Amino acid sequence: MSLRTLDDLGEVDGTTIFVRVDFNVPLTDDGQVADDARIRAALPTIRDLVERGAAVVCATHLGRPKGTPNDAFRVAPVAERLAALLDEPTTVQALGMPGDEPTKAAVGSLGPGQVALLENLRFDPGEETNDPVFAGVMAELVDGYVDDAFGAAHRAHASVRALPELMRASGRAAVAGRLMQREVEVLGRLLHEAVHPYVAILGGAKVSDKLGVIDALIDRVDALLIGGAMAFTLLAAEGARVGRSLVEADRFDDVRAAQAHAKDRGVLIELPVDVVVASKIAVDVPTQTVNAREIPNELMGLDVGPRTVEEYARILADAKTILWNGPMGVFELEPFSAGTRGVAIAAAGADAFTVVGGGDSLLAIKQAGLAEGFDHLSTGGGASLEFLEGRRLPGIEILEDDPDERRNPN
Ligand code: ADP
Ligand code: MG
Repeated sequence: MSLRTLDDLGEVDGTTIFVRVDFNVPLTDDGQVADDARIRAALPTIRDLVERGAAVVCATHLGRPKGTPNDAFRVAPVAERLAALLDEPTTVQALGMPGDEPTKAAVGSLGPGQVALLENLRFDPGEETNDPVFAGVMAELVDGYVDDAFGAAHRAHASVRALPELMRASGRAAVAGRLMQREVEVLGRLLHEAVHPYVAILGGAKVSDKLGVIDALIDRVDALLIGGAMAFTLLAAEGARVGRSLVEADRFDDVRAAQAHAKDRGVLIELPVDVVVASKIAVDVPTQTVNAREIPNELMGLDVGPRTVEEYARILADAKTILWNGPMGVFELEPFSAGTRGVAIAAAGADAFTVVGGGDSLLAIKQAGLAEGFDHLSTGGGASLEFLEGRRLPGIEILEDDPDERRNPN
């Protein structure tokens, strides 16, 4: 089953192409773009279409305006940044909503190579309900569809699912952009043909967010290195004393089942041996490093300790494939950032194919100045986890060669 891409789009000179991007960027308090990584990530696709003579109508969601227009989530600053990032001195016209008359007129008068950005799609309630009527309004504007919003591919929203469905049903193209293509290639490689030893590092806040991916990874990896708050649910389920660390007691049965699954498959699940503890999450509290299974009652574990980093680094040094999702501790605060940094250095230094997913994990790696050391920084948080679980993502399957055939395998 293969993904249709920009290479399958054919002649686009003089046509108008809809490009679903993920420009859901963080904004500063005064409404400026705080980090333009997501805008940069879509440039190869936009440039490709511009060079081929298409008029490009970009569209994104931004924040959670919940179906009504909201000045705090307008895309104008994003359009401005996009214009600055494109090589040619270009303006990127900030359009209104797809059904507005001025929008229709403006799209109609776009020339070859011109770029515009529709207003925040989530101002229309039809976006999140995957409304075919809203999709129809978007479809009317354009001749073809490109999806480069990997970060939104796990959501069946109108611009991600109903719109490409409509395009295909009406004989128009619906294909993946370069970013989407690369994500599917890299994550698909981890899913189907990872080189062993394959080691996954999992951390972050909640084990309940990641039980699905833990279970799926156990079928594929050789070792799982656990850190972050989720480690304490696994430790507590084994009867360790974890003090006031974050524990999801309602997940004990699930994590015990995962442990049994791992044992069955001969997969090593490594838990922290030492942790950095404090009485609360703050920069100015006294900290100490203690045995991970004997945390004093009044303290909580907020990072993995140096012995754990050493142990994890030893396992990572032999890996040929490394997947990382979720920081090892409260990396946002300096006293609890060493574990994440240490593991990041070990992963970046390994002679392995290295992939990172997850918003906070990416932030941690960039903060540590280690982004260059990784082969792929996935732009999808939830989307990459669902993909790695082996689930079919609604925004991806619709871009595949024969989605219908695939949905009903005889
Ligand atoms: P990602 O965005 O990379 O998927 P998550 O959102 O799952 O990661 O988790 C990141 C959050 O987990 C961070 O805000 C971090 O402070 C928090 N965290 C990590 N370790 C701990 C811990 N021991 N106690 C409390 N919070 C933690
Ligand atoms: Mg997060």
